[in-house]
Amino acid sequence: GATIGILGGGQLGRMLSVAAARLGFKTCIYEPGGDCPASHVANYHFQKDYADTDALTQFAQSCDVVTYEFENIPAEALDTIEAHAPIHPNRDALTTSQDRFLEKNFLTRIGLQTAPYAAVDDAEGLQLAIDQIGTPAILKTRRLGYDGKGQARLMSPDDADQALADMAGAPAILEGFIDFSHEVSVIGTRSLDGAVSCFDPGENVHRNGILHTTTVPAKLTPSQRTDAVLLTANIMGALNYVGTMGVELFVTPQGLIVNEIAPRVHNSGHWTQSGCAIDQFEQHIRAIAGWPLGDGSRHSNVVMENLIGDDVDRIPDIAKTNTAIHLYGKAEAKKGRKMGHINTVTGPAT
Ligand code: ATP
Ligand code: MG
Ligand code: MG
Repeated sequence: GATIGILGGGQLGRMLSVAAARLGFKTCIYEPGGDCPASHVANYHFQKDYADTDALTQFAQSCDVVTYEFENIPAEALDTIEAHAPIHPNRDALTTSQDRFLEKNFLTRIGLQTAPYAAVDDAEGLQLAIDQIGTPAILKTRRLGYDGKGQARLMSPDDADQALADMAGAPAILEGFIDFSHEVSVIGTRSLDGAVSCFDPGENVHRNGILHTTTVPAKLTPSQRTDAVLLTANIMGALNYVGTMGVELFVTPQGLIVNEIAPRVHNSGHWTQSGCAIDQFEQHIRAIAGWPLGDGSRHSNVVMENLIGDDVDRIPDIAKTNTAIHLYGKAEAKKGRKMGHINTVTGPAT
């Protein structure tokens, strides 16, 4: 059978590997770390650095198609891989979403609303950005941030020095603070021939900057729901995207504002494992393998809860209930580490 290459060996790579195996594929992960979640289920593991061109070449030559589970892959690594195997989603999608400034430029260009933003490289740039955007605002590193890391809030212009120091010299953007009522996300998939399927939007609650729960259905009017799905399809079309994508949205009286996009399966799409016949992981594998997409319609109401750090100590009790358990096989339950998630079906789809 064909082999699917996956860059990254975390829980998303693990669940992609399981989905690929169910469809009869072999998986080969590329991940510098040793005992990682995906390494327990993938068929092959290149435990090599992303700067190792020879290893990347070998990896790409052993794969029929390559995908990724995180967006911080160095562009040079893609050059090497692309000479030997197709990469889905494409590098345009990857490079755009690697950098918050490029990402917001792209979203603006295709006519979507984002928070007001400005690139910030130094103290002077931050002053100009504050003059333009005002406070409250959030300073975020352009690259490499996740789970709320690499962010500093400015309640007033007096917070500028501290916020800039928090960036540790990294290029940043200042975003105006959006007064949203709640947060939702759409997980969508686009196939090789351009067909699009979006899952129903989920409503997301964060705790300490980390996703805590996703609930479907989200609180949205029918027209907001349609907007959310259509804008996701527009984003994927504009990028000529192939695979599954996550789009995070702020719900405001002025409409939906795009917070960020992720060129991969997304934590806020884990509910699809219990809410749909075909989940986000299978949709992604279908798309990148050139298969038709499955039916992503929702048959159940679901609450997904992340198990962070010692939340996993609750597993013996959760196991006594009908909640579906997904554990990532991580050895140490460190603070803030995503150890697993649970999906609770709360009733038939409403
Ligand atoms: P993820 O783990 O989702 O990749 P991240 O580290 O990339 O997170 P963001 O999604 O940019 O961070 O921000 C994390 C959370 O902070 C958002 O979900 C939202 O709750 C809040 N937030 C971010 N930007 C803004 C904003 N401009 N206005 C108001 N709240 C915001
Ligand atoms: Mg993010
Ligand atoms: Mg986010």
